[in-house]
Amino acid sequence: MPPPPRYAAGAACYAALAPEAVRWTPAASPSGRRRCAIADPIRVEAAGGAVLERPALVGCPLAAALAAFTRDVVQPEAARHFGQPVRRLSHLGAWDCRRRTGSLFRMSEHASGRALDLAGFELADGRRISVARDWNEGNAGRFLRAVATGACRYFSIVLTPETDRNHRDHFHLDLGPYRVCD
Ligand SMILES: [Zn+2]
Repeated sequence: MPPPPRYAAGAACYAALAPEAVRWTPAASPSGRRRCAIADPIRVEAAGGAVLERPALVGCPLAAALAAFTRDVVQPEAARHFGQPVRRLSHLGAWDCRRRTGSLFRMSEHASGRALDLAGFELADGRRISVARDWNEGNAGRFLRAVATGACRYFSIVLTPETDRNHRDHFHLDLGPYRVCD
């Protein structure tokens, strides 16, 4: 397993968000419960050459990770498997003030803007590749598996349909303190 990735925080993170890599707007940390605050909150609109189907509220380091992962893994694998780039990323959500599945006390990385649930990809010609439908399907399945393997270089936890039923339709990608590559 590759070593856990590290991303700058604070001003250094914002400075590293090159305009060609990430399109984003500033956002406020969600108010209310302190355990669900986001450090360096931003709203990501596009990353690594692909538009998010809807903007995602995340912390700056997650945006940096998503941009590098999309540019260095998703786009090259799309070129290899389909001969064209990915133009759109679909996701099931980013920030969410909730506990970790199965835990009464520990908060999910989603609660601090350090996780994204990635559900699929739309290619330049409009074809859609989805984790739910294509994980075991020929060339699209091989693309998804290559993308999931590559994600481990950019995120500390990568959960896939191999992990459990909860992840049958998305990749959970997070920057938490633990290390899991499924
Ligand atoms: Zn998740």
